[in-house]
This record gives sequence, structure tokens and C-alpha cells, in this order.
Amino acid sequence: MSDCIFCKIIAGEIPASKVYEDDQVLAFLDISQVTPGHTLLVPKEHYRNLLEMDPNSASCLFAQAPVVAKKIMVATKASGMNIISNCEEVAGQTVFHTHVHLVPRYSADDDLKLDFIAHEPDFDKLAQVAETIKNA
Ligand code: 5GP
Ligand code: ZN
Repeated sequence: MSDCIFCKIIAGEIPASKVYEDDQVLAFLDISQVTPGHTLLVPKEHYRNLLEMDPNSASCLFAQAPVVAKKIMVATKASGMNIISNCEEVAGQTVFHTHVHLVPRYSADDDLKLDFIAHEPDFDKLAQVAETIKNA
């Protein structure tokens, strides 16, 4: 897509610090570096986000996630990693070309906070929601 910043990176029209590339995917350092080594893995084909992808294109993308993630782990000597893909504005997506954030973690005090608020389990409600998703 002509006005997509990640398509421009893929086309070599704007620079990026690349860490992995093959026919289908590219991985490069996120310009914001939430933690050192923060990398974005993207498909070379333009999709708005994961919700727009079919199983085959998503498989090609995710097949390389552990490959790139392990390279980052070795290089940074991080203790763990968050692997996240934001879909749509409400979920924090700001660049509308599918990307998977690979965020190496060094300590629980890193700048990334993913605090899921735990609720008391309501098993009837869980069964109901699971049924709705299964049947969608
Ligand atoms: P999102 O908020 O959509 O999940 O993530 C988009 C990410 O793209 C942000 O973390 C942002 O720092 C990164 N980003 C935006 N523009 C550029 C750019 O031109 N180059 C690189 N390397 N990263 C970018
Ligand atoms: Zn694009």
C-alpha cells in the first residue's frame, strides 16, 4: 500500500534496522524500543492486521516468530519476552500493517505493563461465552 510506512520499509524506500528477512517476512527494530531489542515482525504482503489474514499467510508469519525471538534472546541475553499483536485502535494499533511485537524482558519493572485484571470466575458465564465463540 503506497501510504503504509511498513510497506515503505519493506520496499527499501525508508530505512530500518533489519534483523531478519526471507521471501515472506521482515523483522526490524521498533523505532521506539520499549525495551532494548524490541523488534517488529511483519508480513511482506500488506494486511491491515491479523484479523484480516487467512490461516496460510498467518502461518508464514508466525512460523518465523520463534526463530526471530530466539535470535533476540541470544543477542540481548534477556530473561523473557512478550509477543503481542495489537489489532485495531481500541487495542492500541497505530500502524495498520500487521506486525508482531517481540519485546525482550529484562525485569518485571521494564517499561511494558500488561496488567490483566483478574475477576472472580463465573463458570456459567464462561460456558456461555465459549459457546458463543464456538458457534460464531
Ligand atoms: P502498534 O502501536 O501499531 O502496535 O505498533 C506500531 C509500532 O511501530 C510502534 O511501536 C512504533 O514505535 C513503531 N513504528 C512506527 N513508525 C515506525 C518507523 O518508521 N520505523 C520503525 N522501525 N518503527 C516504527
Ligand atoms: Zn503495508
